[in-house]
Amino acid sequence: MPAQLIDGNALAKQIRSEAAQRAASLTERGHRPGLAVILVGEDPASQVYVRNKVKACQDNGFHSSLDRYPADLSEAELLARIDALNQDPSIHGILVQLPLPKHIDSHKVLEAIAPEKDVDGFHVANAGALMTGAPGFWPCTPHGCMKMLESIGYDLRGKHAVVIGRSNIVGKPMAMMLLAKSATVTICHSATKDLGALTRQADVVVAAVGKLDLLTADMVKPGAVVIDVGMNRKADGKLAGDVDFDGVKEVAGWITPVPGGVGPMTRAMLLVNTLEAAERAAR
Ligand code: NAP
Repeated sequence: MPAQLIDGNALAKQIRSEAAQRAASLTERGHRPGLAVILVGEDPASQVYVRNKVKACQDNGFHSSLDRYPADLSEAELLARIDALNQDPSIHGILVQLPLPKHIDSHKVLEAIAPEKDVDGFHVANAGALMTGAPGFWPCTPHGCMKMLESIGYDLRGKHAVVIGRSNIVGKPMAMMLLAKSATVTICHSATKDLGALTRQADVVVAAVGKLDLLTADMVKPGAVVIDVGMNRKADGKLAGDVDFDGVKEVAGWITPVPGGVGPMTRAMLLVNTLEAAERAAR
């Protein structure tokens, strides 16, 4: 029995349209939500990501700005630009596209963004807020995954969720969000022994690694929810996730596709965070 698909494109469209309505009413009150995106260097994938983020703003009535800098921009110049955006009342969200060139300390840059404009949710103040259950911005990708679970009415309480990957931007915040919904959470990483033994016990698996076909059908419990965060290029150039979609869909109860799954949800949640930053500033 094939799994049901969680359609990220459709859900993201609905979330964007709600965000556009809220943005319009804020704009009417003189507080148009604004996102500033900063790109340093010419990484082709990053160029596509920032273009999509700016387009999502334009399509939904948000103000946006895009600063493109050459790869040899100094750290001091970047910090000065962030400082100016921190002071700019027309900007409610600041996003610095990662990765940054090696001579720039990413941690220092992310900490320079005012926490109330940190719509990526990467500042330690926001990471700490998520950890302690205080209000703050949640990182867009795991937040989008939570929305996908919510969209199918999935009750996480008492369920076993296995998160594969422990990055600060996906794996760790994902685990915290699942825990906050009373799932029992296991976090796996590159040193985990016998990944399949753990994933086979899982009611929910979130794969966030960046390895093609990491999760195969024999590693999934029948009926489990499988969320695929991974983004990989196959030999033919096509985009694919970490999950062997064709095999796993025959075992899982629910599955997210790549493309058309977590990716569009990430962009939609960026709009939501920017909107919330603008709403808070307007209060
Ligand atoms: P990352 O920082 O490279 O982290 C990857 C994680 O996977 C690490 O924790 C690593 O463990 C773990 N790992 C590596 N090999 C493993 C293995 N064989 N078994 C179990 N765990 C393993 O990557 P990321 O930024 O979290 O991103 C993960 C994937 O999601 C990438 O493909 C990325 O492109 C994609 N992504 C997609 C979106 C979206 O919107 N769709 C957004 C963000 C990221 P260690 O910590 O031990 O090294």
